[in-house]
Amino acid sequence: MNIGFIGLGNMGAGMAFNLLRHCQESGDTLIVFDVNETVLADMVAKGAVNGLSVVGLCSQCEVLFTSLPSAKEVNLLAFGDDGILTNLKEGATWFETSTNELSEWQKIKSEAPSHLTLVDAPVSGGAEGALAGTLATFLGVDEDVLAKFESLLGVFAARVVRMGPSGAGYVTKLAQLHLNYLVAQGIGETLMLGAKANLDLSVLHSVLMSSCARSYVVESYIPKVLDGSYDTSFALGLAEKDMRLITELGQHLEVKMPLGDKVYSTYQEATKAYGAGAPHLSIVRLMEEQHDQILRS
Ligand code: NAD
Repeated sequence: MNIGFIGLGNMGAGMAFNLLRHCQESGDTLIVFDVNETVLADMVAKGAVNGLSVVGLCSQCEVLFTSLPSAKEVNLLAFGDDGILTNLKEGATWFETSTNELSEWQKIKSEAPSHLTLVDAPVSGGAEGALAGTLATFLGVDEDVLAKFESLLGVFAARVVRMGPSGAGYVTKLAQLHLNYLVAQGIGETLMLGAKANLDLSVLHSVLMSSCARSYVVESYIPKVLDGSYDTSFALGLAEKDMRLITELGQHLEVKMPLGDKVYSTYQEATKAYGAGAPHLSIVRLMEEQHDQILRS
């Protein structure tokens, strides 16, 4: 079987690498493509086949994975004579793992030829989890399709969860991210309280870790504030995009989210100040500058 992977960034590189190792054992072939020639060359050097273009890759693949920044890139690749929908092999299945916009995905689905199966399969667990093969993936998929591909998804995901029919995966991902970003902004306020009272922030972190405030964000994000890196494995612009999608979903479902609205405006402010390519925890940097107080161990 030929497996295609488009988008070899922070998340895609790790997921594709695990699929490559799987292919090397199973006799399947991994065909890859990215507009970034450096990451493409890196994956080809590891043993993947260069798809050379979206058309070149799709015309050979029974299964396709995409990991792209946003709906803009997913749509760009999906439509047109050179796009995925026109060129993917007869009967192929496309797992779209980006954090994507539900309404845009519904447009793609409505224009997809009936021989193709499209699955929203966003992921959670960060670049570290992608490389370690410990991601969670939330699927909007029919049960028979999941049964066919569950073991393949298990190559990069420790948790493969069917959330319901098409679209349920994207909604789950946005609900999960909503809480994630609320807590991410909260860690800045918590650390600032400690810093202004001259607490040792490493000790404060260890206390949080053994308290009811413990979470993945507390465990993994706080050290990346305290070392001043602000976590380069995820871009601020993508976090701002996620918060926009979350507030739009809230409006669509008529759910009032005052906390979400506030956090979205913080991400917008940070993106304006530092640029979309800055690390996502730059929202805490914004707070450091507002208080003239650096948060370090
Ligand atoms: P990234 O920007 O690091 O990677 C995206 C890749 O897509 C890049 O290598 C880029 O060159 C490639 N690309 C862009 N346009 C392309 C095109 N037209 N054709 C081919 N390749 C193209 O982003 P990421 O951090 O890996 O995130 C990918 C997706 O996963 C996003 O939707 C993000 O929101 C989501 N996500 C990220 C994380 C994380 O921690 N980084 C966690 C969960 C979900």
